[in-house]
Amino acid sequence: MILCLLWLHDLLRWAHVDNVSTMMTSDMNKPKVGIIGGSGLGDRLAARKDVEQVFVDTPFGPPSGPLLSMTWHDVDVFFLSRHGEGHTLPPSAVPYQANIFALKSVGVNRIIASGAVGSLREEIQPEHLVVCDQVIDKTHQRNSSFFEQGLAAHIEWAEPFCPTLRSALIEATNSHKTTVHKKGTYVAMEGPQFSTRAESHMHRAWGGDLIGMTCCPEAKLAREAEMCYALVAMATDYDCWRESPATLDKHALLQEIIGHLDRAATSAFELIEQTVIQLGKANPTECNCQSALELAIWSDKSKVDPAMIKKLRPIIGRYFE
Ligand SMILES: [Zn+2]
Repeated sequence: MILCLLWLHDLLRWAHVDNVSTMMTSDMNKPKVGIIGGSGLGDRLAARKDVEQVFVDTPFGPPSGPLLSMTWHDVDVFFLSRHGEGHTLPPSAVPYQANIFALKSVGVNRIIASGAVGSLREEIQPEHLVVCDQVIDKTHQRNSSFFEQGLAAHIEWAEPFCPTLRSALIEATNSHKTTVHKKGTYVAMEGPQFSTRAESHMHRAWGGDLIGMTCCPEAKLAREAEMCYALVAMATDYDCWRESPATLDKHALLQEIIGHLDRAATSAFELIEQTVIQLGKANPTECNCQSALELAIWSDKSKVDPAMIKKLRPIIGRYFE
């Protein structure tokens, strides 16, 4: 069955959000997990028999594609392919605001994201996974906030990834075969071109452990939307700071990287599955991410345009009741 939540006009749109808001407040702490990733994860999940496509439109346009809704180990799960069907959205064109808003609209409260990265450290070898704990944001062409003129809100960002969800992922590594690094600093670059060698060395000197193109603003927007967010980074190569073996021509090198990504995606899928199983068994707990806006709204609430409150209702509605 295809469930179509297409908001054709404001009345229909916000009638839908009213229903969603009720759903969200009725059972906010029960895990409802959003998984954002590439086709490696999506194909495995799409093969399940109970998958439904959920089409959601948002005030920020449509997300990258339909959400794949399923019950996985007794947990409600929504998968979203970040780069869209056929990987047609480059990192700068991914509709990050719409993606996070869509997941928020269906009641997701925890996001486990995955993404391919280049390693900036010898010890993080291709095919290793990293549960990132810090990020350096170098992106500059993307809308990185839900808040614009008329509403000033400043979330805390010192710990950019949810510590509770990171703990669940790290706990799940106990039964995992692949090497999983329990922390790492992700340098988020605009792309789509890769780094120069000078930049790659600079990122290492900054303390970066990984380089990728999609973590920001995805993680920032998730925090603004009061959703727990953690990232499983999949190392595919050593970026360009480390010279490639002279024995490999560029075609062989690309094939090697694709092989690393395939195997890392399999490992990431297994790690995320173990984590979902644990989340389903654990007692639902409240996390600080889920009240990130409590002290963050600096505008005089009486001066905020009701139209903006309406637009952002799934995110800020409870602070304006
Ligand atoms: Zn959290």
